[in-house]
Amino acid sequence: MADVNNPALAALSAALAPELELAQVRVRRVAEGFELRHVSDREAEPESLHRVDFPELRTLASHTAAGEFRPIKAAPNLRAGWLCRVASAAELELALNQLYPGALADWFAAQQPVPPVTHYRAFTARQTGMYRITAMLADAPAAQVIRACCDERFCLKRRLWSVDGLTVDAPEAKSLIPCLEPCAVMMEFARKAVRIEQEEVKPTLTLAPSEITTLLAALETAVARPPASQREADVAAADNPRRLQLLRLKLQDFVPIAAKSGGE
Ligand code: SF4
Repeated sequence: MADVNNPALAALSAALAPELELAQVRVRRVAEGFELRHVSDREAEPESLHRVDFPELRTLASHTAAGEFRPIKAAPNLRAGWLCRVASAAELELALNQLYPGALADWFAAQQPVPPVTHYRAFTARQTGMYRITAMLADAPAAQVIRACCDERFCLKRRLWSVDGLTVDAPEAKSLIPCLEPCAVMMEFARKAVRIEQEEVKPTLTLAPSEITTLLAALETAVARPPASQREADVAAADNPRRLQLLRLKLQDFVPIAAKSGGE
């Protein structure tokens, strides 16, 4: 590893003892350099995996196995079945940047005494144009929006930024890749949440506790099994999984009431 003169890469090299997992990618030191593969292929024979060169990893990471575009590269839907070998630490950095752009730099930055984190309030305060309204969410609804958007079913980055009343992700949560500030999908989702809050006509609906339980179960099923054609960044779609998850979180506020009332 004499060719390591990048501090982030040197730190990663030290952490590779002899392997580590970066979100859904397992990196292992081998005699000829490093080997990368999907974590679900940990036990697979190398011959059974499709060999790719590191420049091909960007294409591999751009779409799911079902062919859908992956707007968030840290979403837990990286396709499996491939193996990539690189000869040097410099190539390892290039390979990781194809799979998880910026992850190595962010991982290293997060280990500094004062990580460069931008919290929701500071981030939204400097938004202009269509995203200015994201600053209008009060702390409690903003926390719900963040919890829904950054749920581990949608993104494996460990969130280090927050809003008052919401804790950051625990060190062991999700993956080694930190999230240092709200991403573009988060901003789009927050904007949609504000627009939903601003809808003037809000019909009232009275539900029995058991009906709340049924709705929660239906939402859970829908979040867990989105259609293959679902575009995850399309928050305008009523059945977008993040929107379903946000509704789940709102309904869960009523669960204690449902329990007290004898609901299932
Ligand atoms: S803001 Fe949330 S969804 Fe976006 S990258 Fe960070 S943790 Fe993931």
